Order: sequence, then structure tokens, then C-alpha cells
Amino acid sequence: MLQLVFDDCTRMALCLKQVFNKDKTFRPRKKFEPGTQRFELYKKAQASLKSGLDLKVVVRLPPGESINDWIAVHTVDFFNRINLIYGTICDFCTEKTCPVMSGGQKYEYRWQDDHKYKKPTKVAAPLYITLLMDWIETHINNEDIFPTRVGVPFPKNFQQVCKKILTRLFRVFVHVYIHHFDRVTCMGAEAHVNTCYKHYFYFVSEFSLINPRELEPLKEMTERICI
Ligand code: ZN
Repeated sequence: MLQLVFDDCTRMALCLKQVFNKDKTFRPRKKFEPGTQRFELYKKAQASLKSGLDLKVVVRLPPGESINDWIAVHTVDFFNRINLIYGTICDFCTEKTCPVMSGGQKYEYRWQDDHKYKKPTKVAAPLYITLLMDWIETHINNEDIFPTRVGVPFPKNFQQVCKKILTRLFRVFVHVYIHHFDRVTCMGAEAHVNTCYKHYFYFVSEFSLINPRELEPLKEMTERICI
């Protein structure tokens, strides 16, 4: 029995070490510049997140804050966190294990962008997720879409772009939950992933940032853990 406890702890420590290394090597996190309004808003959101408040309450727009800033801060934060979650299992998501970007038998995603994949194209899950994360990274680093300079307004289509980013990020949850959750559980990261998912779900629901149809693949689980 004691041996089992020791093994679990060792395994967890190893997994956490892997997570830490992945965070550094898999993809750099997008950070907010200290001193900017968005950095302050990010800090505020982080503080309320850690305060133990109900996540449904935490996602609400604080009085006096701009909705676009609030959405910008969360979109970047979800990108960072979901990217890290995928990073923890990406060694187990290969062309062989996941030749299709799917969520079970019923859902399959095809990649499309303005460059190489002009038509929806079937690609393996790891490539799909790499393309997806690169695509998001390009958008959140684009000053015309996510302006960081004081006084520069958000573009008119800002919320539309964020809807698309958040919709695409949801697909990573679908893939991780349906195809790699055994690995998440083995790493002891289940609670962490569930909390991130719940936070994401309450946020996109609060501001109607995703078409409910897109949420279908995880509907049962969402009803179980979020409602
Ligand atoms: Zn996979």
C-alpha cells in the first residue's frame, strides 16, 4: 500500500516536471505587458479566480471595465492554458494514434485557413492542433486585432475574431477529453483540466461567444460538471 502511494507521488512529480518543461519548450506563453491596462485587468481576473468565488460569478464583466478588454484578456488566457493542457499530452497524440482530428466517431474537424488549406482539409489531429495554435498565435500577436498601445481601439470585427478563436480552442478540449483523458487522469491533472473547461464554458456562455451547436460533442460532460 505504502509502495503504491509512493509510486503515485513519484509519477505525479514526474508528470508535473514534464508539464513545466513543456510550458517552456512547447510554445511560449503570450504575456501582457506590465503597466498596461490589460495587464491590470488580467491580474484582477486572476485574483478573483484564486479567491474561490463561483466561476459563474468570476466570468462576469466587472463594473466600469470594457467588454472588449475583458474578452481580450480571457481569450489570451484560455489560449495559454489550453495550449499548456495539450502540451502535457502531445507526446501521446501522433499521426498514428490520431490520424483524424475527431471527437469520437460522430465529430470530425477539417482544417481551413487563408494560406495552404483553402478548402476544409482532413489532417491528423497533431497537425490540426499545431495549425490551430499557430493561427491563434498570429491573431493575438497582430496589433491591428489585439492592440496593446494605449488609445488604439479594437477593430470592429474584434468580437467576431474572438468567437472564432474560442470556437477553435473548444475543439482542443473535445479532442483531449474524448481521446486523451486517460492520460490526463494518469497525470493527476483531471481537476485542473475540468476547472479550465468550466471557466471557459461559463465565460463563452456569459457573452454568447460560441454557437451552442459547437458545444454538442461535450454536451453530456458539460451537463455533468457545469450545470
Ligand atoms: Zn490525439
